[in-house]
Amino acid sequence: MKNLVLINPHPEVHYGEENISVLVQMPLNLGYVAALTPKDWTIDLIDETLEWAVDPKTGELRFNGADLVGITAVTYQIPRTYEIARACRQKGIPVVVGGPHASTIPQEVAQHVDSVVVGEAESVWSDLIRDLENGQLKKQYFGGLTPLERLKYIYPDRELLKRKYNYKYSSIITTRGCPNRCDFCAVPIFQGRKYRERPVEDVLEEMKATSYKGLMFAEDNFYGHSKRSNERARSLFKGMVDKDILKDWFGFTALNVAYDDETLNYMARSGCLGILIGVESLNEAALKQMNKFVNIRIGVGNYRKAIENLHRHGIIVWGSVIFGTDGDSKDSFKEMTEFALETGLDILTFGIFTPMPLTSSFHRMTQEGRIFRNRFPEDWFYYNSNHLVYNLKDMSLEDFIEGLEYVYENLYSREALKARFDRTLKETNNSKNSMFAYRINIDWRAVFKSVIDDLKTLYNSGDYPGVKGRSQVATL
Ligand code: SF4
Repeated sequence: MKNLVLINPHPEVHYGEENISVLVQMPLNLGYVAALTPKDWTIDLIDETLEWAVDPKTGELRFNGADLVGITAVTYQIPRTYEIARACRQKGIPVVVGGPHASTIPQEVAQHVDSVVVGEAESVWSDLIRDLENGQLKKQYFGGLTPLERLKYIYPDRELLKRKYNYKYSSIITTRGCPNRCDFCAVPIFQGRKYRERPVEDVLEEMKATSYKGLMFAEDNFYGHSKRSNERARSLFKGMVDKDILKDWFGFTALNVAYDDETLNYMARSGCLGILIGVESLNEAALKQMNKFVNIRIGVGNYRKAIENLHRHGIIVWGSVIFGTDGDSKDSFKEMTEFALETGLDILTFGIFTPMPLTSSFHRMTQEGRIFRNRFPEDWFYYNSNHLVYNLKDMSLEDFIEGLEYVYENLYSREALKARFDRTLKETNNSKNSMFAYRINIDWRAVFKSVIDDLKTLYNSGDYPGVKGRSQVATL
């Protein structure tokens, strides 16, 4: 029997989503690959957020060989992916890599591995396995963008993942793709600009089939971009209620869902804990620079009312913002803090603006000579929204650090978190969802601190253009 080892790569030091314990979730994409692998193969999974596949110090394999190693990686995971690939190939194990980075820059990935899957693996995985068995593994496979109706009844092998690591949460995919063109975002590049929707009945069957109570909708907008998509989302949640498929679920969407009481009603009854919305910025110039027109259409002035309505349904609201966009100044931090307090956002997390590879912001900043984390592939490690990779335009690095410290002190001190919990509870009248928000806030506090510390390390290192690294900025 042949043996496949699937690996979720993880850098040795990294803070991010994986630190949010209530949402720690399995690498679902590997679950799909496992489900599509022929039954006469054995499969092992190694999630490096939990254990090493390759010892980061010695470079030794920590598993007993394989006939094939499969890895999927987003951009910040790519340097670690190449380390793992090197260790495997030294032992004669072929390595195939797919995922967003491989789909965006396959020519780079091809230099480090035996085979690259460009696009979505579902449509080519069985061909790839057959070619390997015949000793004819190709350098590249083009999976393209699979119409999701074609994947009917193909569900990720969650049991394999659960057996190995007992994950508390799982994710689920109900749509793929995004028609928008936010200038930093690679989703339209690797998932396409067509919004693809799985048939509602298929999603309901998958939900029913899994023993997981906690589900995260792992897509950028479950509610969709048109009236028809909104109706489909409504019928999904209605189906959950009608068929008694009640889950503790969480998802990403835009604030327009807040005006659809019928959908909110079904969402709440089906078990929705909350939603994450990309607030990004309060600055219209910055939103225009990012091409985030969906937010301009809703209008920042309408957020308070929208959040009130979500709270009325007991749903918590997680706002995600971006700091450091061109147009952001040192005043942006105070404005965002006041906004979060005024609107009653239950969670506010942030990312540092990151021009992902091949996006228009990446091209623009490269042309402007502003990207200083540019020793690729090693520097891809920094492309995860927790590091600054380019020279800020409208403020100094010191202003940036001070601004983030202001947000931290006013939104993430223990007193601020306690006050936020009390307010969430009062406004949603839902203790389970309020506790969910509180626990995310507690975990995010640690991520937030690590980001500020990392910026101070950057300041002190002298790597940031124009900063000599003389004066020592104290860490938190
Ligand atoms: S940030 Fe969201 S809305 Fe904008 S392109 Fe990416 S996925 Fe689409």
